[in-house]
Amino acid sequence: MNNRAPRTTPQMKTYDVCIIGSGAGGGMAAHQLTKAGADVIVLEAGRPWDNTTDSAMLTWPYESPRRGGSTKERPFGEFDACIGGWDIPGEPFTRAPGTDFNWWRARMVGGRTNHWGRISLRFGPYDFKRKSRDGLGDDWPISYEDVAPYYDRVDRLIGIFGSAENLPNEPNGVFLPPPKPRCHELLVKQAADKLKVTCIPSRLSILTRPLNGRAACHYCGQCNRGCKVNANFTSTNVLIAPALATGKLTLVTNAMAREITVDQSGKATGVAYIDKTTGADRHVRAKVVVLAASALESSRLLFNSKSALFPNGLANSSGTVGKYITDTTGTDVGGFIPKMMDHVPHNHDGVGGMHLYMPWWLDNKTLDFPRGYHIEVWGGPHLPGAGTLGGIQNYPSGGGYGKALKDNYRRYYGATIGFSGRGEMIPNDDTYCEIDPRTVDQWGIPVLRFHWKWSDHEYKQVKHMQETFRALITAMGGEPWSPMPTAEQGYGIAAGGTIIHELGGTRMGADPKTSVVNQWSQAHDCKNLFVADGGPFVSQADKNPTWTILALSMRTSDYIADQMKKGTL
Ligand SMILES: Cc1cc2nc3c(=O)[nH]c(=O)nc-3n(C[C@H](O)[C@H](O)[C@H](O)COP(=O)(O)OP(=O)(O)OC[C@H]3O[C@@H](n4cnc5c(N)ncnc54)[C@H](O)[C@@H]3O)c2cc1C
Ligand code: SF4
Repeated sequence: MNNRAPRTTPQMKTYDVCIIGSGAGGGMAAHQLTKAGADVIVLEAGRPWDNTTDSAMLTWPYESPRRGGSTKERPFGEFDACIGGWDIPGEPFTRAPGTDFNWWRARMVGGRTNHWGRISLRFGPYDFKRKSRDGLGDDWPISYEDVAPYYDRVDRLIGIFGSAENLPNEPNGVFLPPPKPRCHELLVKQAADKLKVTCIPSRLSILTRPLNGRAACHYCGQCNRGCKVNANFTSTNVLIAPALATGKLTLVTNAMAREITVDQSGKATGVAYIDKTTGADRHVRAKVVVLAASALESSRLLFNSKSALFPNGLANSSGTVGKYITDTTGTDVGGFIPKMMDHVPHNHDGVGGMHLYMPWWLDNKTLDFPRGYHIEVWGGPHLPGAGTLGGIQNYPSGGGYGKALKDNYRRYYGATIGFSGRGEMIPNDDTYCEIDPRTVDQWGIPVLRFHWKWSDHEYKQVKHMQETFRALITAMGGEPWSPMPTAEQGYGIAAGGTIIHELGGTRMGADPKTSVVNQWSQAHDCKNLFVADGGPFVSQADKNPTWTILALSMRTSDYIADQMKKGTL
């Protein structure tokens, strides 16, 4: 129980399942459980959103005085399909002294899947058993073979393009054909081949062929604004909408969950939440509760669900709630590629994202750090927006006035290439979250305080990223924009949380003394409580996590449906 005394008005109806959050994890749970016939309620802290009506797709930058530039509410640009951000008014979090950490939170139906990057990578067989391979961190209690059938089903349900490469730790999926590489990507591929860096078609959840009643992509490249024709994956339009169509889903927006309630036997009875439109306390009863509020928010909810039976927070008898949290390591290098100047104007249309990427290609035996990273590619001549070619005076003979300036814009437009590394962090004891005893949000709910520390493993890995990206730019005949960051600058490592792939805090394990949930993401301490977001991840892999969140949520939801049928919940 948090320091806001519960003054809730209990609802008489008891739902089969109450899901907290409607992002990737919550959306999949709502989809599977309603299709299985369960009576489901979703509590979503954010506002309603529908890509087909609310998206700014195909709006020209000149239609806005801001030209699409960012605002505080829309840090990724005013046309971006995002409600939320790094700072949410009235919803603070805190950082322990010395901690550099950022926390992106969505506050809308569909969560972060409305403006995510759609890079949809499966974890591979090694990723589930890392400790067995290098002795660091922990193994998952499940293996790739346990999750593979669910990855296949997610591929078929949602749609993903890619190519079968038969790489040992980058499993093939059920792929739609990938789009062809564009000019700048062909140059990247040449450089990668020269340096023996594996470079293959990217794997994104965008339809290149119609699927399940959804249209194929028409290559407008505006995925981050929300796709009005529904050709990319969002939880909102691909999972929640069909769940609503079953008539079995009640979706409550502006509903900020603050506590999971339990009975005297320790079973979850439902969720207490704030109706943000009125500030009123409410309570919903349910036979099963599924936490999917995003990994770290789910830890917060468990901490705040204290009772005589669970004085350290619900499902926290192991003391590991909030622990083993990670974010992807990341750093970027951009460069000027003279070969790409004065390009012949041509159709550069593509999907909203890269057409090529580089999976991890090296053997750690020859390196001074464990685990790996993949490389994401950006640059080329995309639709210009606010800030395009800012700093043109830094190009050779750039800048100028009048016609000379315009000519220079035409010359250099699209002659930039960039690489972003996305690598695996190993959980460590100095990186965790807890409740800040002195700070509450606008509804009086205690907030999280973060502790974050990178280890040498991550610094060395990021140094390697920087060196590789510079070598790639040089191999393309180009020049990096910035000097190599020093050790004192952490080799350019992004602050924790900045890559927005936070995971852990309710990790999965066979031993209730060292983990929060079992292999079905079911709380060891509370059998009708499940976690369906990134909280149960034991390790992180260098893969972006959402495809695995979706596959695990589907697996957990099928288990819930099965157990409900058997009457064990
Ligand atoms: C710009 C960007 C790019 C990204 N690119 C990629 C990518 O290319 N590939 C990839 O794999 N991942 C990517 N991600 C990460 C991806 O979006 C997340 O992994 C994924 O959305 C996590 O799903 P989730 O369900 O755990 O959380 P979310 O999608 O964040 O959903 C959580 C939902 O819970 C709601 N909520 C939170 N607290 C409460 C509460 N107390 N009560 C009720 N509701 C609550 C939130 O409002 C939100 O709607 C990206 C993220 C961003 C922001
Ligand atoms: S690029 Fe394709 S998927 Fe993305 S918004 Fe345009 S049509 Fe939709």
